[in-house]
Amino acid sequence: MSDHIIRAIAPGIRIVAAITTEIAEEARKRHNCSPVATAALGRVMTAALLLSETIKGEESITIRVAGNGPLGNIVADTPERHCVRGYIHNPAVDLPAVNGKLAVGEGVGTGMLHVTRFNPQREVFTGTVELVSGEIAEDITRYLLESEQIPSIVGLGVLVGTDGQVTGAGGFLVQAMPDATDDMISNIEQNLSLVASPSHLAMEGVTAAGMVRLLLAGLTGETVYEPEPVVFQCTCNRERGAAMLNSLGTDEMNAMMAEGQAEVRCNFCNELYQFTEKELCELQNSNNKENQL
Ligand code: ZN
Repeated sequence: MSDHIIRAIAPGIRIVAAITTEIAEEARKRHNCSPVATAALGRVMTAALLLSETIKGEESITIRVAGNGPLGNIVADTPERHCVRGYIHNPAVDLPAVNGKLAVGEGVGTGMLHVTRFNPQREVFTGTVELVSGEIAEDITRYLLESEQIPSIVGLGVLVGTDGQVTGAGGFLVQAMPDATDDMISNIEQNLSLVASPSHLAMEGVTAAGMVRLLLAGLTGETVYEPEPVVFQCTCNRERGAAMLNSLGTDEMNAMMAEGQAEVRCNFCNELYQFTEKELCELQNSNNKENQL
């Protein structure tokens, strides 16, 4: 089952669920992540996708987890709807598991969580909260409560096999609307205590719609929308890499030409763009022409 996301509403409740196994694996491969780095990055990327479903279609979201742990900063954003990309500062850092679980909280440490929303006019709204545990789901829950005043339950999980590959990843977000009753909330909390983690559900082949059904068991009146595919996708390309080199200025360009080559690596997807001396020369010539016009 390819990665996908689904939205559903029930009286008083809004819910989003996603399967992100391929996205987490793609991130692991691109950034050469250790198991704990894979789990941390996969959780943040999944959270970005879930949050992006709660805002208007044209807005995009960036999550930055700035912890003081050995993994360093983790960033994920949704440059387009249903697309996510991300990176982690120290992907090679590995830590021993704690009680059989990847030590994400220890790897992230304490610090701040920043969630930035960009509307179509590129106006920026940033909400910042202190990290609760560095386990990401609890941190996102706090952000939603303190910054957006929406009581929420967030579940995020990435399961890594003994060979280091991702075997299951996913997440859900349940939000209580103002008309939610205490009975509904306790019903969902009880459901939550019975269901496996999103990563185990993903590994077992449960779909996002299946996850929604498990979470809403016992409630009625829900509307479940059609699932939509989600992918790891970056916005970088060779032209942007060239523009980046150009922006460094004439002196830097001359130095790179003297070296005979230059390369630009994209933070978000780790793609490498290499430029030969000839290409650098052409870039600078086209620059000069533009400046003369
Ligand atoms: Zn890229």
